[in-house]
Amino acid sequence: MLKPSTAGNRSELFFSEAQDVFPGGVNAPEHGFALVGGTPRFMDQGDGAYLIDVDGNRYIDYVLASGTLILGHASHRVLGPSIEAMTRGTCYGAPTRVESELAWAVTEMLPSMELLRFVTSGTEAVMSAVRLARAFTSRPRLVVFEGHYHGYADTVLARSGGSVDARGTRGGIPPDHGIVLPAEYAISVLPYNDREAAQRLFEQYPDEIAAIIIEPVTAHMGVIPPADDFLPLLRELTTAYGALLIFDEVMTGFRVHPGGAQTLYDVRPDLTTLGNVLGGGFPIGAYGGRRDVMALAAPLGLVAQGGTMSGHPIVMTAGLATLRHLREPGVWRHIEHTAAALADGLLDVARAAKTAVFQTHIGTMLSLFFTQTPISDWRSAQHADTDKFAQFFHVMLQNGVYVPPSPFASWFVSTEHGMPEIEMTLRAAYRAFRSL
Ligand code: PMP
Repeated sequence: MLKPSTAGNRSELFFSEAQDVFPGGVNAPEHGFALVGGTPRFMDQGDGAYLIDVDGNRYIDYVLASGTLILGHASHRVLGPSIEAMTRGTCYGAPTRVESELAWAVTEMLPSMELLRFVTSGTEAVMSAVRLARAFTSRPRLVVFEGHYHGYADTVLARSGGSVDARGTRGGIPPDHGIVLPAEYAISVLPYNDREAAQRLFEQYPDEIAAIIIEPVTAHMGVIPPADDFLPLLRELTTAYGALLIFDEVMTGFRVHPGGAQTLYDVRPDLTTLGNVLGGGFPIGAYGGRRDVMALAAPLGLVAQGGTMSGHPIVMTAGLATLRHLREPGVWRHIEHTAAALADGLLDVARAAKTAVFQTHIGTMLSLFFTQTPISDWRSAQHADTDKFAQFFHVMLQNGVYVPPSPFASWFVSTEHGMPEIEMTLRAAYRAFRSL
């Protein structure tokens, strides 16, 4: 394996200081370089499509905070209204109109979300949606898919077969066989895109399944779209057996289509979770869906969910500015075209450099696997050569391109990425492929 690219002096210093105060020197594993080796770059500034680190190095950013920054870094469209709102007060602990304005934008874009709630992270949104589904159906069992990620609440981190958390982190989570354990841990893990396995599970537990939760396009083992008819089958099974279908669109919302995967594939879930793009760069989550299900949330119903910072006015303002701009004619299509140019270009340069890759690409997201074997689920994703990815990552970084520091994360594009950035990226990629 190549030596990881060297970080500048200040990143090295700041990382060594951070390791004294944070486990692993970071506040989230995905901020570090654990999967690619080396020192994470400490960032000082974002500027459109670029990140600038504390040593003054400039990178074209394809991470965009897990895809959050769909309008790029420090967008004036987001900053202007957010700063104006902040001068009137940072938060009130009381309702504000902007909460409803953002909710209207969401329900227009994702009409299945008849009633919704804003929370402060995707993890909270998922936790709340699952609790609601169990309350609505009076059933315990939750169905999840291998390799899908739904945040880090106990309810969705399961074991058996593979881990549902691609990183395999499940310490502190009770085993899931649901026999001696309290019902809240009853969970079944299915292979993604396996129709027969889903059918069999419903036959095995016809009266026990509260809900299926799925990333309708998974983004945590690289981007992997659903097999044809997989989502419609899940819709049919859940309806037939009286279970709920939850689409976790924290990642795919506004990214695979302005109306999310549910609009792209025309499958209406009972509940949806959102996050990332929705907050315009500030912490957010949302869950919502069928009016009769959502009516169980307190104070209308008995399902607990609250939050000091829920519906935070600055976050709502930033989110509203983001969605408003995304809905302007041509804006989303432009990002999609840029992503397509990047995806096609990467395949071309890989071919020119005689490097075998498998690529997936949908909407404004893409990923690149170092394998020729088609990837459709967690097991096939294991064929990807993670050492090669790490080498590729470091050569890209040295050439001013910041791709996700994980072979199983998605790349994202923003409104601020244009042809100059794509061309620079492809030149760097050619060098990186040739170095392998
Ligand atoms: N679900 C999905 C599909 C996610 O991608 C993520 C992380 N972005 C989460 C849930 C958890 O969201 P958060 O990190 O905001 O808690």
